[in-house]
Amino acid sequence: MRVALRITKYNRYSFIPLFWFLKRRGIEAVACFSKEEVLVSGASFAFFSFMTPFAEEAYREMAELKEKGFRVIAGGPHPSALPYEVLSSGADAVVVGEAEGVMDELINDIVSGSLKELYSAPLNSFPTYSMEASPYTAAVELVRGCPFGCKFCQVSYLFGRRPRNRPVDEVLYEAQVLLKRERRFIRFIAPNALSYYSHNGIEPNVELLEELFSKLKEMGLLQIFFGSFPSEVRPESVSGKAAAIMRRFCANKRVVVGAQSGSNERLKELGRGHVVEDVERAVSILNSYGFEVSLDFIFGFPKETEDEQRQTLDFIEEMLKKYKVKIHAHAFIPLPGTPYWNEEPSPIPRWLKRRLHELEEKGLLDGNWAQQEYLRRRLCRLH
Ligand code: SF4
Repeated sequence: MRVALRITKYNRYSFIPLFWFLKRRGIEAVACFSKEEVLVSGASFAFFSFMTPFAEEAYREMAELKEKGFRVIAGGPHPSALPYEVLSSGADAVVVGEAEGVMDELINDIVSGSLKELYSAPLNSFPTYSMEASPYTAAVELVRGCPFGCKFCQVSYLFGRRPRNRPVDEVLYEAQVLLKRERRFIRFIAPNALSYYSHNGIEPNVELLEELFSKLKEMGLLQIFFGSFPSEVRPESVSGKAAAIMRRFCANKRVVVGAQSGSNERLKELGRGHVVEDVERAVSILNSYGFEVSLDFIFGFPKETEDEQRQTLDFIEEMLKKYKVKIHAHAFIPLPGTPYWNEEPSPIPRWLKRRLHELEEKGLLDGNWAQQEYLRRRLCRLH
């Protein structure tokens, strides 16, 4: 039997573990990078995984594939939060939440032809599944779940607030897979890379990080990327000790820090659990250890006032003046499953857009804020 995995720029890492599950059961997984490749894949099932901004596009493809006789299985952040919408948009089955806990059941049902509509596993600890069976490599997941529950972010609502850490031995095993494929660098995924085996989700476990990094180097990995995409760090987790360890072992010159707003009232409302001053402290420490900092900000939160947006812009200008930073700007998009799903985004006023564009032209700011702003107008019918 053969199944098609509809891989896009945004879901590749989600599919890597599926190769292991499918191969183990003698099912061939075909990686398809377009709908056309699915059509000629010889598969009878097509797997989709997508986030909210890509839902419409996924629905269109799913409908076309259904017409050609494919059965469609969908998972990922949007289907997990709105499974019935996805079923009514053409999926035959939806996997809610983490796929690992239901893959065996799903495969049994595919093989026996008795597919159910919903597959959902309780949030639990799963063993981790290696990328060994996949033709592709991925960033290694260090931590899943996040204790903070920020109102705009899906991580805590999909994966729970109890962080689950991937044991060091398993990370080293994945590193061996990379080396066997002649990859000499490793990247990580985590909501907050510095929270790996932290006792409180904030304070870095510096000793363990040092042990992990030393072992990775001893094995022959030349470059360790940590605290850069696709992992980032929370500002209050940054300490001098952590920055020193990163400087000693890591190859990235830049660290990504989640700032999100320059207004303490807004940060409180978002449930971020840190203040603006923590962001400046983190930037100052990281710069002093030779790291440039990429600061993440989101504009247009529900009920965000122009005064708060002004405070955020002032804070950005101050950071740009005092430190080696680059701004990574986003426009808020309501995500299903979060407390802000049914909330209306606030508009991003002209004066602010103008300044964001100016900073972009000077090379001081990047990010998809303009496309996201356009997209959310379509999604939320904002004018
Ligand atoms: S934004 Fe970051 S800290 Fe907040 S819930 Fe999401 S992953 Fe956790």
